[in-house]
Amino acid sequence: MRLVGLIGGMSWESTAEYYRIVNDEVSARVGGLSSARVLLSSVDFGPFAARMKSGDWDGIRADLVREAVRLRDGGAEALALATNTMHKFAAALEAASGLPLIHIADAAATAMKAAGIRRAGLLGTVFTMEEAFYRDRLRERHGIEAIVPERADRLEVDRCIFGELCRGILDPRTTARLKEIAASLAEAGAEGIILGCTELPLAMRDGDLAVPYWDTTLLHARALVDFMLGA
Ligand code: GLU
Repeated sequence: MRLVGLIGGMSWESTAEYYRIVNDEVSARVGGLSSARVLLSSVDFGPFAARMKSGDWDGIRADLVREAVRLRDGGAEALALATNTMHKFAAALEAASGLPLIHIADAAATAMKAAGIRRAGLLGTVFTMEEAFYRDRLRERHGIEAIVPERADRLEVDRCIFGELCRGILDPRTTARLKEIAASLAEAGAEGIILGCTELPLAMRDGDLAVPYWDTTLLHARALVDFMLGA
C-alpha cells in the first residue's frame, strides 16, 4: 500500500474524521485487518489561525512547505492537506516537495461531474469562498461554476467554522442557520452544495435540502485511499 503524507490539525476535529474515514475505506475495500498507510503531520492550529487573521500568508506558506518536505523525507509518496483553505498553497507544496498533491477540489469535482452537477453552491471559510484559488480550480479544470452566499452570510459561515466547529462546538441552531444559507444558494440556482470546509460535515451531515451536499472531507479521504491502493 502506498504511503500518503497528510498535513492535518486544521482543525484536529476534521483531521480525526479523515483518520476514521481512510481506515474505514481501506477496511471495506481490502478486508481482513487492513488499515490505512498515513504519515500524519498535525500542526498547532492556534498560530496558523492567528496568522490567517493577520494576513501573514507568507509565514503560513513557509510552515506548510516545511511540513510537506518533512513528510516527503519521511517516505510519503503523495501529499494531502486536510483543509480546503490551505489548498491556496497546493502548487507551492508540490513544487517544494516534488510530490503530487491529492487536491480536495478535484476529489469533490470528480464526484459532482459524475452526478452531472455544473453549478454548485460553495460554503467554506471566507478565504475559500472569496479568493480565486478554489473557484478557479473548479471552473478551469472541471467546468463547474461555484456560487457563494452574500457577504453577510459568508462572514456567518466563517464565524461558525472558526468560532464553533473548529472548537468542537456543535449547536443545532448553527446547523439550522447553515442549512438556511445552503438553501438560499439552491434558490439561486445551485444544483448541489459543496461543503468546502472540512469541518462543515460535522454540522451538516444529513442532506435534507432539495439539492445534495458534497462532503469534501469524505470525498477527499476516499481519494487518498484510491491513491494508497493504486486505483
Ligand atoms: N478546515 C477548514 C477548511 O477546510 C478551515 C480551517 C483552515 O483554514 O484550515 O478550509
